[in-house]
Amino acid sequence: MRLMSDLSKSTEQLISTAQPSRASLSEDNSLSLYLHFPFCSKICGYCDFHKELFNRRKEALYFQALTIDTALAVEELYKQRNRIKKNTSPNTAQKITLQSIYIGGGTPSLISQELFGRWVEQLGELFDFAEDLEFTVEVNPESANQENLALFQKTGVNRLSVGVQSFNSKSLMTLDRRHKIEDTLRVFYVARALGIDNISADLIFGLPNQTLHQLERDLYELLEL
Ligand code: SF4
Repeated sequence: MRLMSDLSKSTEQLISTAQPSRASLSEDNSLSLYLHFPFCSKICGYCDFHKELFNRRKEALYFQALTIDTALAVEELYKQRNRIKKNTSPNTAQKITLQSIYIGGGTPSLISQELFGRWVEQLGELFDFAEDLEFTVEVNPESANQENLALFQKTGVNRLSVGVQSFNSKSLMTLDRRHKIEDTLRVFYVARALGIDNISADLIFGLPNQTLHQLERDLYELLEL
């Protein structure tokens, strides 16, 4: 979030300069929500995402600002919805339904479960959750474990996007990734043991010196999982 870039400001200053995030609503009164968690324990050389080195203080400020931003964005959204619906539907008290939530990054598997749980509670007060809500969190293999995956699941997460990137150790080193292949296998094992079987995975191809055979091996290993 833009608010996080100047940590010399007090929380009050940060909050007073908060601007609501943009949001738009589909015709059936439902919404999909994406949150970018911009912190990582190490910065990968190739990375073009918005990211910062993780620390708990910055994370706490981020969630403070996020709570305000969420409230402002949702207030604006309901105003928009009510303006549009005023002529067609008298039922402006109806809550908007969240169809999907996606937490990307950054490295959301570093997230404080307590702060995250509170934010999801805030969402629960502002929205209805669809019965078949798809709730995804991106995880990096080195920071996803039995404990945090179980807590994510308790909060409602039912889908993981695993940053596999490659099953080749040299490729992982080229990419500055922190995890090892065993970490990736462990995440899949732990997630399925918990009952999370809706899992997607990122692979990267086109690395310097990567051969077609290496890419085929990556695809083969992924299909094996
Ligand atoms: S973990 Fe992902 S977001 Fe973080 S620096 Fe590496 S590529 Fe970028």
